[in-house]
Amino acid sequence: MSRVTDLLREDLRDFAGYSSARSEALDGEIWLNANESAWPNAADGDGSCRRYPDPQPAALRDALAELYSVPPERVLVGRGSDEAIDLLVRAACAPGRDAVLVTPPVFGMYAVSARLQGAPLVEVPLRDDPQAGLVPDIAAIGEAAVARGAKLVFLCSPSNPGGAAIALAEIDALTRLLDGRALVVVDEAYGEFADGPSATTMLDALPNLVVLRTLSKAHALAAARIGVALGDPALIAALRRCQAPYPVPTPCAAMALAGLGAEARGQTCARVGVVRSERAQLAVALQALPGVRRVYPSDANFLLVRFDDPGAAFDALLAAGIVVRDQRSGFGLGDALRISIGTPEQNARVLEVLSAQAERLADAPRARGAA
Ligand SMILES: *Cc1c(COP(=O)(O)O)cnc(C)c1O
Repeated sequence: MSRVTDLLREDLRDFAGYSSARSEALDGEIWLNANESAWPNAADGDGSCRRYPDPQPAALRDALAELYSVPPERVLVGRGSDEAIDLLVRAACAPGRDAVLVTPPVFGMYAVSARLQGAPLVEVPLRDDPQAGLVPDIAAIGEAAVARGAKLVFLCSPSNPGGAAIALAEIDALTRLLDGRALVVVDEAYGEFADGPSATTMLDALPNLVVLRTLSKAHALAAARIGVALGDPALIAALRRCQAPYPVPTPCAAMALAGLGAEARGQTCARVGVVRSERAQLAVALQALPGVRRVYPSDANFLLVRFDDPGAAFDALLAAGIVVRDQRSGFGLGDALRISIGTPEQNARVLEVLSAQAERLADAPRARGAA
């Protein structure tokens, strides 16, 4: 039977990584093994930063395991999902040989990490479905992954910037097809905003499936840089060996742990509810505006919007102090902007500015006619 770690680079399979001062299971009272200072810094009130941290802070790892309903041995804690993406590419892809498959238009870090590793990039564009929006062509992805020797297939669900979530049945089919050939990585950075269950519910059945989650979006902790890869325990252990010695700073772990407490989680959940209802209202209102070509259905905390004149919309928003993401350089998105869902007041302001802009556009021909 093949093991999922057989998908990693041959030259890394017995790689032990860095043996840190914290990785030896020793028991002592006076710790003089890591060249740390014997005294705390004057700014470090409780002295919590004096020593090197636990590489995988146990309390945080357990809290994340509980949050995502997986056992702790399936959890790799890292500096955002960005680090997990980079680790996966480095551990799985031999430079110049093993390809990374992505589905443009999509989050740019997969391609950046592939480039840094010298891994060939295989692109299978999303399909633009009149109802479902920008969705992956699972059959084409499977074929291309096999034909081009992809070791990693990145699926973004809900997709950034498209917004659509991928049905679990499709992920299941693709992952089974690529069993023994490639890891299928499902990036659920926006999973909290979607309706359906997480792909984590399929981890037990699919050894070559990896799911990425983060505290950066719904949990409002982007600056704490905490994200996870969830997958096969042997794969997680191998990724850990490729990771930096002390990837999780103590203040960040403390903030994340506090941010996963019952009260904070209750508030996070309520705010996800607000985002979802705002998203629905804003989508309808934007779609009704003249000059808006299309608002894509979204399972995330943003809307991808096509405009007749995206530059004018971008400039009008900017002139009002509102910064949205210009997507015009994205694959097939020459007329699109991505607008994050803000507070109800902020969303109302976006609508106000774009309505005024639409009125000006509508008036312009008349004004010219009168002149
Ligand atoms: C924002 C985002 C991330 C980055 O998450 P971090 O945990 O902050 O590194 C990952 N994937 C997608 C699709 C994102 O949009």
